[in-house]
Amino acid sequence: MPGVEVIAEGVVKTYSGGTTALRGVDLEAPRGRITTLLGPSGCGKTTLLKVIAGLERPDRGRILFDGRDVTGLPPERRNVGFVFQDLALFPHLNVFENVAFGLRVRRLPDPEVRRRVRWALELVGLDPGEYGSRRVNQLSGGQQQRVALARALVVEPSVLLLDEPFAHLDYKIKQRLLLELKRIQRETGATVVYVTHDQNEAMSVSHRIAVMRDGLVVQVGDPVEVYERPANSFVASFFGEANILPGEGGFIVVRPESVRLLGPGEDGVDYRLAGVVDDVVFQGPLVYVYVRVNGSTVRAALPRGAPTPSVGDRVVVGWSRRDARVVAE
Ligand code: ATP
Repeated sequence: MPGVEVIAEGVVKTYSGGTTALRGVDLEAPRGRITTLLGPSGCGKTTLLKVIAGLERPDRGRILFDGRDVTGLPPERRNVGFVFQDLALFPHLNVFENVAFGLRVRRLPDPEVRRRVRWALELVGLDPGEYGSRRVNQLSGGQQQRVALARALVVEPSVLLLDEPFAHLDYKIKQRLLLELKRIQRETGATVVYVTHDQNEAMSVSHRIAVMRDGLVVQVGDPVEVYERPANSFVASFFGEANILPGEGGFIVVRPESVRLLGPGEDGVDYRLAGVVDDVVFQGPLVYVYVRVNGSTVRAALPRGAPTPSVGDRVVVGWSRRDARVVAE
């Protein structure tokens, strides 16, 4: 089923204990795209996802699917699929029945159930013949994540809600599943809202990123936009690495890859500062040089193979005006 446009309008949610998790959130998740909610622990990402799913009722505000107000509808009437962090697979059921669950609830005829479960398992890269009859506790962590994803997809949702679905997996498996998620999204056309606190995951997977802080969305844009034009120092430091230096009328944000180390007489920059090398850290394709400048530290990311100074060296760092941004806060 093709995706719908998801809009959250002025959503407020206070839990019974008194915590206000959402303080008037506005969000637009375009149809058939992957929108990521990115933010630190406790900023309200999961709560917003649950409100979109219909698992939590907002105190104020509305949720619209293609313009239709679904705020009062239960999850089963929203055509959503979701995977939360704990996966909540049924340990006593085999893979086939775990995936079939949502279809059995809808009382679909057996041949239809078999056809759709096979389709969903193949979509997530699990051979139905090989895995269908296995118990879920006989699967690896990555395979269990695939089962959870298949279970969400089997109902052909127009909105797929994923809350850190690949948490606790090792880096390579996670990268592979992220690529597969993008393929699945393209094949199904579903609108995906994806929650993570991991900026790399957000960069890998998103068409659009909504950065959240303290129950509010503080910036929305495509990954390049948010990276190149962070709205404030919080976004700059949370999404990608940033040098944030006090300046006139705000803070100056410069990404480490835009910082140059200048040799004697070298020019081509608009700003230059002298300092002393504090540390040099090898990180695969990049080498990070930490330079102490007037009580602040400036990080420069140099491509591997570039001339690298040593700890204690006196150096000059610089950058051009177009690579620096002045932000508030
Ligand atoms: P994380 O990345 O750690 O999962 P999050 O951004 O998803 O965090 P939420 O789970 O939405 O954040 O929580 C937002 C705030 O609401 C937190 O302060 C949390 O303690 C509180 N909260 C979440 N669920 C409940 C609940 N059921 N009852 C009371 N407070 C809750």
